[in-house]
Amino acid sequence: MSKGLRTRAIRAGLNSDRNSNAVIPPIALSSAFRREDPAVQPQFDYARTNNPGRCLLAEAVADLEGAAGGIATVSGMAAIDLLLHDLAHGARIVCSHDAYGGTRRLLDARALGGRFTVQYADLSDPDIAREAITAGTRLVLLETPSNPRLRISDITAIAALAHATGAELAVDNTVLSPVLQRPIELGADYSVQSTTKLINGHSDMVGGLVCVRDAARLERLQWWANCAGVGAAAFDSYLALRGLRTLPLRAQAQSQSALDIATWLAGDERIAHVDYPGLHSHPGHALAARQQAAFGQLISLELAPGLDPREVVRHFDIFTLAQSLGGVESLANIPALMTHAAMTPEARAEAGIPDTLIRLSVGLESVEDLIDDIDSALAG
Ligand SMILES: *Cc1c(COP(=O)(O)O)cnc(C)c1O
Repeated sequence: MSKGLRTRAIRAGLNSDRNSNAVIPPIALSSAFRREDPAVQPQFDYARTNNPGRCLLAEAVADLEGAAGGIATVSGMAAIDLLLHDLAHGARIVCSHDAYGGTRRLLDARALGGRFTVQYADLSDPDIAREAITAGTRLVLLETPSNPRLRISDITAIAALAHATGAELAVDNTVLSPVLQRPIELGADYSVQSTTKLINGHSDMVGGLVCVRDAARLERLQWWANCAGVGAAAFDSYLALRGLRTLPLRAQAQSQSALDIATWLAGDERIAHVDYPGLHSHPGHALAARQQAAFGQLISLELAPGLDPREVVRHFDIFTLAQSLGGVESLANIPALMTHAAMTPEARAEAGIPDTLIRLSVGLESVEDLIDDIDSALAG
């Protein structure tokens, strides 16, 4: 029987060192690896192609995702870009209309060169998804929960739509991590992560990871990762693997705090609207309860008329104004000015991201302190 998630996350790569019997796998910073025989290709040869720490990290995350394997990259954006390398010229991509701002910037910039066409659609709406994923679509890039509005899309249903037209489905799983959602088990072909966020969890490195369902596709993307030189650095891989060991505990605890905070926010008259899939009032609640293990650490909110979001975030003491998510420290962000500033105002309007929206990434501090912090920031 496969061991529990916490056991697999903690034990990943332990005791694998054969030189010193180090329990924690050491960092190999060497760019070159000595050969015993010039004609025999060793497992490690040159560090762009592969390095031991990168390999352990990719294996560990792929194991949690239920994938054939994974590729650790220098950033989340590099992981998404890696998926685009093999698309035939003129291929059609369908992407969540409220995907991460950097994802839209990347797709738009690449599409401008004529390599492929991209259509953005609200994939949380089954009718819109069915209309968008038409013949000629080669890749569907889905973000669920989407960010910042936390819309929930049905991974199994979208995988079926994609496969029926001969397209592949990639899910950006950054917001939940494989502890809370496993897209490949739900039918996706790829699960993509920014390891910068929950997986590392300590906000001190940048990295990405693509997990692949099919072994032949994995090999092809490994070829591209070496060709384009986007593999993760040894030290960053070490940090991400260290972070991964506590991911199951962090993800659950942060989700619980976020649920407590969202519930408190929903009952406060200074808040006009709360997006949190864990609230029964959220339109994607039942679907999220089915395809996720918990509801995640992100909350978006709109203030009651008359309250200025820029004033409120200025008055936070614990929530730090910074644009990331998933770390142990709580962060606040105004997406229109920060994480989603790369989108045009029209694209933001279409995705339902008003200039007044505040997004919170709930960390591991005492939840009473976090609620007190929000309460006093709202009081001004
Ligand atoms: C941060 C993020 C990315 C990009 O990852 P980087 O590591 O910053 O390159 C992609 N998707 C989502 C959902 C993100 O939050």
